[in-house]
Parts: sequence; structure tokens; C-alpha cells
Amino acid sequence: MARVSTSDDEPAAWPKQCRGCGASYDEESWQELPFVGVDTSYRLEFRNCPCGSTLAVPLPSD
Ligand SMILES: [Zn+2]
Repeated sequence: MARVSTSDDEPAAWPKQCRGCGASYDEESWQELPFVGVDTSYRLEFRNCPCGSTLAVPLPSD
């Protein structure tokens, strides 16, 4: 219901797939990964996959 995309340059983030191990995360399982940080310039949030890869998803726009 809330996930209406209003802009073409905001890619759908879910499910997010890890390039390292192939694990895929939805919004809920993403929140359980260890938080790394955010990049406010690129509006990305980084978290660590258990395999050691750092994943990034777009920050919510609000
Ligand atoms: Zn992984």
C-alpha cells in the first residue's frame, strides 16, 4: 500500500540480493542485518551480509 513509486529514478529495493552469497533480503530481514551506515549524498543505507559483503539499498525518500 505505501510503496507507490513516484519516480523512475527510485529503483525498487526489495528483494535485495547479495552479490557475494546470493542471499536475498526483504525489508524485514534487511533490518536485522548489522547496520554499517548511510551515505546521504547518494541516499543509500549500508548493512553487512553474514557472508562479509556490504550491501546497499536506497533510503526511503521521506
Ligand atoms: Zn552475502
